[in-house]
Amino acid sequence: MNPYAVLGLNQNSSLDDVERAYRKLALQFHPDRNPGDSEAASKFRDIQEAYDRIKKPENFRNEQHFQEGFQSPFDIIFPFFNEDPNILMNITLNVQEAYFGINKTIHVPRKQICNMCQGTRFKQTILCGSCGGQGFLKKGNNHLRCKECSGTGKLGTHKCDNCHATGHIKINAELTVTFPPGLKDNSVVRLQGAGHQFRQFVGDLLIKLKIISFNKFHLLNDELHTSIELPLTKFILGGEVEITDIENQVISVKILPNTPSGTKLRVKNKGMKIAGTNDKTDLVATINVQIPDITDVNIISKLKEFGI
Ligand SMILES: [Zn+2]
Ligand SMILES: [Zn+2]
Repeated sequence: MNPYAVLGLNQNSSLDDVERAYRKLALQFHPDRNPGDSEAASKFRDIQEAYDRIKKPENFRNEQHFQEGFQSPFDIIFPFFNEDPNILMNITLNVQEAYFGINKTIHVPRKQICNMCQGTRFKQTILCGSCGGQGFLKKGNNHLRCKECSGTGKLGTHKCDNCHATGHIKINAELTVTFPPGLKDNSVVRLQGAGHQFRQFVGDLLIKLKIISFNKFHLLNDELHTSIELPLTKFILGGEVEITDIENQVISVKILPNTPSGTKLRVKNKGMKIAGTNDKTDLVATINVQIPDITDVNIISKLKEFGI
């Protein structure tokens, strides 16, 4: 259970937000206001528990042992409180795919509620005798979670074979993910609801991107980098050189005489797309002076003459 999600909040919510949300929802789903409504009763239990989990986390630290095995055929039904519903995946795109955006089909190993037992872990369930199926016991004005059924209102009889009494099955879900243009290296794409499916809620799929080089292009600090092969004569004389950008457009830039290898030229608005805008970063082109392979003896003797 993500107690914040149950209360319609997120992890960053303050204790004040928690109090407010709890009070509002507890009033709305209170059994006294919804007599005979088992769905409201179940929601009320979840709200109570979510609140307790945030306010008194120490009470829940030892719950792991509930999940470990079955002591009797009348074992409790227990949801998957300790599991992270989110799935983390690493995906590699090349810089061209990240630039233009791409649709990719991926396979996600995810847990889903068992279709045979609907996550109850049992083929058959009976109403809990202690609480009459309510999941809580009334003491004065307080509603205490029923210990017998762990607040579910039900007790299991025969274990479900389909999920080996775990309540969920593992599937390999096929998803087509749309990666928008301009994604950054190490960024995370979140697909809401594509994570594990548990009883009360569904997690998200978090895709962490690694962006690798493509042809002469690579990303560095979110900027697009390339290289220019500069002929020796252009190095000596300077002049116009051509750079091809990632969209295959040729850009002409001026180079001063004696611009050494390693010099970085910046071309405005020809680099990486900036997600959600029409803008681009600079294209950073590193000069690489080409030293020709000289074998002509006349040239060699001239070079020697000039002491080069
Ligand atoms: Zn099952
Ligand atoms: Zn009970």
